[in-house]
Amino acid sequence: METIKLYDNDAYATEFSAKVLSCTPVVRNNIDCYAVVLDRTLFFPEEGGQSPDKGKINDINVIDVQISKNIITHFTEAPVQTDSEVKGCIDFSHRFSNMQQHSGEHIFSGLVSSLYGFNNVGFHLSDNSVTMDYDGVLTAKDIDLLEKKVNEAIYKNIGIITGYPSKEELASIDYRCKKELSGAIRIVTIPGYDCCACCAPHVKRTGEIGLLKVIQLQNYKGGVRLHILCGKRAMDHFRESLYLIDSLTDVMTTGRDNLKANISAMKTEIQSLNTSLASAKQELLLAELSSIPESLENVTVFKEKTDSFIMRTVINKLAEKHKGICSFFSGSEEEGWAYFITSKTVDCREVQKKLAQFNARGGGRSEMVSGSVKASKEALRNALS
Ligand SMILES: [Zn+2]
Repeated sequence: METIKLYDNDAYATEFSAKVLSCTPVVRNNIDCYAVVLDRTLFFPEEGGQSPDKGKINDINVIDVQISKNIITHFTEAPVQTDSEVKGCIDFSHRFSNMQQHSGEHIFSGLVSSLYGFNNVGFHLSDNSVTMDYDGVLTAKDIDLLEKKVNEAIYKNIGIITGYPSKEELASIDYRCKKELSGAIRIVTIPGYDCCACCAPHVKRTGEIGLLKVIQLQNYKGGVRLHILCGKRAMDHFRESLYLIDSLTDVMTTGRDNLKANISAMKTEIQSLNTSLASAKQELLLAELSSIPESLENVTVFKEKTDSFIMRTVINKLAEKHKGICSFFSGSEEEGWAYFITSKTVDCREVQKKLAQFNARGGGRSEMVSGSVKASKEALRNALS
């Protein structure tokens, strides 16, 4: 027996009573639970890309709701008595949020269809995100226009009509999402904006959607994927974004208007300071190493972490002065070392082989090798001596 969908006629009802037709213990996603079929329900199942309603049956949590062949199955944490009357209630704040997102999506998709001729080929509505896929490319400018028009439709507070037209009536209606469906087809109409086959609960008037905001646009399978937020979700996002901006103005001790310019200026200043710092470090290092007597043939130097450009300059300077093997290690014993080794008289690849005992990773030419290694200074000195 097909389940009577109480949410079809009243998307705002939260409580209902029903008769238990069956209750079977099952394992679902590795969880022991019960598959409960009622003669009627307010629980909207997972369908058409929308996640299911949440709620309770006789104070027992409903953890999932599925539909197959028009029979709705509730998965509950505990059993209920077959043939008994049960009371069900749905989490309306969750349901209403889904209604806001879904009705917003219909207006958006209706406008995409009428203005650009693209079809909605994917819809996903979960607790965390709402995505819509279209089979054509929309630009950021298109999105601005669509967003503006959707929100105008919201302000107009248009009544949304749902119903099951007869076959004859259906033949004369131009609606989206036509599918070869057996049985009655539910049509959701937003006059002036959209007409679409849809099984989900919707708000009564567009004003209840509150607000629609596109938060992300990405290319997807030759078309686009949009992430949207409606109603309370959009408001929460707005609040979080403002909080973030205000935190940044606090950190930067400036107003919102100057925030972007201040951060850009700070980035430029940091880049310039980094360049000055690197050149000062290099000068200091070279001055320090110039005190090593030229008579010393082999030189091994350990220094704190520095960038590879400085390391190259230093190793080249050392090689100008010292005839043997010049090794420069930058880093620490704890974190490991980056190294450059050069020589005019010895094949550095042979030196590299000596570092293999410390699992050194590196390579190079006979004149110079480089890599990274983790070992004590003493062990490295011994290996190179
Ligand atoms: Zn729909």
